[in-house]
Amino acid sequence: MPDFDPHRNIEDKDKDLDGIIRPQDLEDFTGQREIVSNLHIYIQAAKLRGESLDHTLFHGPPGLGKTTLAYIIANEMGVNMKITSGPVLDKPGDLAGLLTSLEPGDVLFIDEIHRLSPEVEEYLYSAMEDFVIDIMIDKGPGARSVRISLNPFTLVGATTRSGLLTAPLRARFGITCALEYYDVEDLKRIVKRSSSILKVEIDDQAAQEIAMRSRGTPRIANSLLKRVRDYAQVMGDGKIDIKIAKYALDKLKIDTRGLDSIDNKILSTIINTFKGGPVGANTIATAIGEDQGTFEEVYEPFLIKEGFIVRTQRGRIATDLAYKHLGISPNRVSSDTLFGE
Ligand code: ADP
Repeated sequence: MPDFDPHRNIEDKDKDLDGIIRPQDLEDFTGQREIVSNLHIYIQAAKLRGESLDHTLFHGPPGLGKTTLAYIIANEMGVNMKITSGPVLDKPGDLAGLLTSLEPGDVLFIDEIHRLSPEVEEYLYSAMEDFVIDIMIDKGPGARSVRISLNPFTLVGATTRSGLLTAPLRARFGITCALEYYDVEDLKRIVKRSSSILKVEIDDQAAQEIAMRSRGTPRIANSLLKRVRDYAQVMGDGKIDIKIAKYALDKLKIDTRGLDSIDNKILSTIINTFKGGPVGANTIATAIGEDQGTFEEVYEPFLIKEGFIVRTQRGRIATDLAYKHLGISPNRVSSDTLFGE
């Protein structure tokens, strides 16, 4: 197993190209069809009524399009968007400054909203519910609070860890959308769309290969496309065909099924340390140095979706596919042996 994680290393590098490739409207957004069609209706309805869109929460693993959908909402509503994130909003004062600067209908996007401090979160409640905030003036005995009205706005929250949101905060979102991993067909469309924006020729098979190795995630698909393009330009004539795509992805040590190093660590832990399972989520999480929630909400869904592990009442079990992927032969005690047949 490689020590470094090619996917994660790649992710950080191409921030600047992100803006060019990011879909601008719902029409342009591939996949997540139910979410897209619902948002379409909600946005049209809010516009017809001349109101701001209801507060919206997007949850799901990283790189699936939560931030992109926030931009799209602002764009489709014809308003501006201010961006911040849970850990950055340290004090209620930081939030007050942002909220009072919003124009009618604007979007306030809070990424990693599960990481808001309880103090800031509480402050958000009245802003979300009644578009007012109470600001404390002075300190000590002379302290008093002044109520300030805000322009109606839409809070768009994004989180990879919806399990960590408090019930009162969750209840204040009128629209909640769970983003799912993308299938290969949708990722292929995304790769083709991005390559046409980047003006690089790619054939069908090559787009399919990149899509298959992207862990169901558009951000990874785009990153891989950019790296493969480098190989095509330096080693070929700039066009991406299946040969150059496979060569580049192998050189980059991208797993043939798109798994990253943590996915592989999870599988090898279940197989090598716990004899293939069943083993509890908490035990796996501890063994790989993550907390249980991150394992369950961020890593496990993809491994289950792709058929590498199954969830049973007694814990997680590695499937034959997982053994095959790691090149280990399944050597489990079968029920036949147990019953002496
Ligand atoms: P998240 O906020 O969920 O981590 P982002 O919205 O930042 O993910 O998306 C990551 C990258 O993937 C963006 O650069 C965006 O261009 C691309 N992307 C995400 N979803 C889609 C999609 N449905 N179609 C095309 N590109 C997408």
